[in-house]
Amino acid sequence: MRAVVYHGAREVSVEEVPDARIERPTDVLVKVTSTCICGSDLHMYEGRTSAEAGKVLGHESVGEVVEIGPAVDRIKVGDRVCVPFNIACGFCRNCERGETAYCLTTNPGQAGAAYGYAGMGPYRGGQAELLRVPYGDVNCLRLPPDAADKENDYAMLADVFPTGYHATELAGVQPGDSVAVFGAGPVGLMAAYSAMLRGASMVLVVDHQSDRLRLAEKIGAIAVDDRQGDPVDQILDHTRGMGTDKGCECVGWQAHDSEGHEHPASTMNNVVRSVRAAGAIGAVGVFVLSDPRSPDTLMRKGEVAFDMGMFFQKGLRIGAGQTSVKAYNRRLRDLIAAGRAQPSFLVSHNLGLDEAPDAYLHFDERADGWTKVVLHP
Ligand code: ZN
Ligand code: ZN
Repeated sequence: MRAVVYHGAREVSVEEVPDARIERPTDVLVKVTSTCICGSDLHMYEGRTSAEAGKVLGHESVGEVVEIGPAVDRIKVGDRVCVPFNIACGFCRNCERGETAYCLTTNPGQAGAAYGYAGMGPYRGGQAELLRVPYGDVNCLRLPPDAADKENDYAMLADVFPTGYHATELAGVQPGDSVAVFGAGPVGLMAAYSAMLRGASMVLVVDHQSDRLRLAEKIGAIAVDDRQGDPVDQILDHTRGMGTDKGCECVGWQAHDSEGHEHPASTMNNVVRSVRAAGAIGAVGVFVLSDPRSPDTLMRKGEVAFDMGMFFQKGLRIGAGQTSVKAYNRRLRDLIAAGRAQPSFLVSHNLGLDEAPDAYLHFDERADGWTKVVLHP
């Protein structure tokens, strides 16, 4: 099969690799029809993770089931499915509680596994013609008959839509809330969109890229351009000096200013400054255990200078971490099927698999207009 293979910093190629196949009786084999490049793939692309050369990338996949193992019960050949980026067993202590992002059996020694990702187990990714899905009955979300028509919408269910939704769930966004979302990448835009779905009265989205801010405005959010001045001051201006009820951090440790300098804690601390006293924060931007190449000495060991003083003074609450996709993907799928959600508004490029190296380059440069890439193997 053809697949996108990681070779080192800013080096990916599309090449022939051994076919993915059924390895265990509970596996499902999916012919991938859509697979996205994720902002979190860029951490690997930039050589900032422990990703090893030879890894097949990709964790956001939609496709058609072409083969099932003998112990697969529910999923049938021919089903159109969306595959969550988390690989869950369905029976461990955490999976039982719905916390499939922290599955205890699929990546022994750690909590949580994923396809084609550094530190998330030995699984090959979905930027390929075929994908092996372990515990297929647990991990495949069946799609309705409009699957082909709304393929790009359903592709967002593998990661970015549930991840954005998770930020609003961690923050406890309720009808009428004002919400500040930092970062207008795909996850930030999905957090803003989810806040709208949950009935927020005002959503402010901070970024410094015009194309992303335009998309934020398109879904009814207020764009806060941090090139125009301190984003916290702008948010306070919009909220009569109070700050917003809730905040979402959708940037992570590679936060940088408009000059390109990295400040790992800057976005997190801006969220703390932007949320009103007794408010709450959902943090889904990626942080890592270590980043030996970080310009920030603390961050080299995974630590950031968090503004605990302000956080405590304001009596804020915070929830953080990866989303358990399965906690949300059925309900979000049904919103898409019912025409109540169209998360594909952020997709800018539909490309063939062979165009992946070029797409990585442009997406990594944050080239104007490259907001979300879907590859169609
Ligand atoms: Zn992703
Ligand atoms: Zn599990």
